[in-house]
Amino acid sequence: MATPATIAEVARATPVVDATDVLVVGGGPAGVSAAVAAARSGARVTLVERYPYLGGLASGGMVLVLDDMVNGAEITTTGLVGELIERLEKLGLAVSPPPEDRRVGWDAWRRWARWGCNDFRARGKPQPIVYAVAFDPDGWKRVSDDIVVESGINLRLHSWFSAPIVEDARIRGVVVETKSGRQALLADVVVDATGDLDVAAAAGAPHALGSYMVTTVFRLGNVDTDAALRFEHEHPEEFAELDRQAKHLLGGAWDMWWLKTPLPGVVWCNCPHMVGFDALKVEDMTTAEIEGRRRIAALVAFARAQVPGFANCHVLDVASQLGVRQTRLLQGEYVVTKRDVVERRHFPDTVCRGRDYYTPYRALLPRGVEQLLVAGRHYSADSQAQKISREIPPCMVQGQAVGVAAALALSSGVRVRDVDPAAIRRAMRAQGADPGDVPSANAATRPAPP
Ligand SMILES: Cc1cc2nc3c(=O)[nH]c(=O)nc-3n(C[C@H](O)[C@H](O)[C@H](O)COP(=O)(O)OP(=O)(O)OC[C@H]3O[C@@H](n4cnc5c(N)ncnc54)[C@H](O)[C@@H]3O)c2cc1C
Repeated sequence: MATPATIAEVARATPVVDATDVLVVGGGPAGVSAAVAAARSGARVTLVERYPYLGGLASGGMVLVLDDMVNGAEITTTGLVGELIERLEKLGLAVSPPPEDRRVGWDAWRRWARWGCNDFRARGKPQPIVYAVAFDPDGWKRVSDDIVVESGINLRLHSWFSAPIVEDARIRGVVVETKSGRQALLADVVVDATGDLDVAAAAGAPHALGSYMVTTVFRLGNVDTDAALRFEHEHPEEFAELDRQAKHLLGGAWDMWWLKTPLPGVVWCNCPHMVGFDALKVEDMTTAEIEGRRRIAALVAFARAQVPGFANCHVLDVASQLGVRQTRLLQGEYVVTKRDVVERRHFPDTVCRGRDYYTPYRALLPRGVEQLLVAGRHYSADSQAQKISREIPPCMVQGQAVGVAAALALSSGVRVRDVDPAAIRRAMRAQGADPGDVPSANAATRPAPP
């Protein structure tokens, strides 16, 4: 019998398991922030996540440095991101350079570059050491759990978004796949924080398809980091040759292929980078996972045999989720451009900021679907702009802005698209987050395009 191109699925009644004010889909950095901000603003909130833990790329993806947090000496990403950092510090699971080390100098560089606390956008060496935070992925899961539970959020893990419920161009909730079968969750406002725009795209919101390299992040245990650093500094030429060979085996890595973590002897490796994979395609993601693990095995064999400090290392873990940076990008009420980011354009409806750039509320608002908001790496930006404005801290501040916006819409009885950005900014300030309402001296304040 010939294989049909499609099959018709049987229509079915799906049980409604939850009805709430604000439903956040995706429990990564942006989603957790959105959920907590909405709950702290008085809304009833449900948060659904496909995996058994919160944190997204910051935990399951083992992306272990919070960066893009400063504009010169000013810390610009504040609010819930700062609160999570404080909680991690109390557990001894976050490390950052003290103020006196945040400067240019070889001594500061030697102390902090292998923590990933260098300004990687600066030219030349040594790059300035800046405020950035190295943290532990299981610690991130734990503090995310704590903050979500304390906020009274209805958390539903193991729930994979499957379909939006849309009536008359207004989202009413979503259907998720679970071990108990399909379940419907209803809400007055839905926030898409899936990172891949799963909800908004399925609901019909205009979007573009971006792409960027993917990475199979991993950690090594039992590394003698002191010995490795001594060798690097005392034998720079031999080090450079071994480093070149290691990177060749990885087939794609940043300048430093390993970085320190708060756990002694444990390093994280933001590599191997792999290009040409579409992270929305099962076939590509399967190939990428296997190719990533193959390259890791080759690197580890080499490092054990050749690289001082790595003789007794072992693979501690390979990230349980592939490092996907960019897939679908919302084309919302405003699409942020690379120029907006590099020129630091300030907008009349700025509601959040990252590093030295600003995000307008319109970039978090889909077109064509009511009562839906987005936050995180799939926000409305062009591909080049997203590549330089999607780090964890700014995604968290975006989430916080969207969370307070959702709650404000409900408390004031207006559609989410009609919430006054000035009210969002006031609510952000009240929650301890900098909404970017006061542009820094280096911001471009010329009028934004319509
Ligand atoms: C390899 C790599 C290295 C990076 N390095 C850094 C760095 O050093 N510092 C930095 O700050 N940033 C870094 N980034 C960027 C940063 O990690 C992401 O941009 C950021 O985590 C985005 O947060 P998010 O909440 O938007 O998305 P994500 O972290 O992707 O979270 C999305 C969440 O939604 C869930 N989800 C997705 N689809 C569904 C569904 N259908 N149903 C239910 N749940 C769903 C996911 O499981 C996840 O929990 C890096 C990214 C990568 C990939």
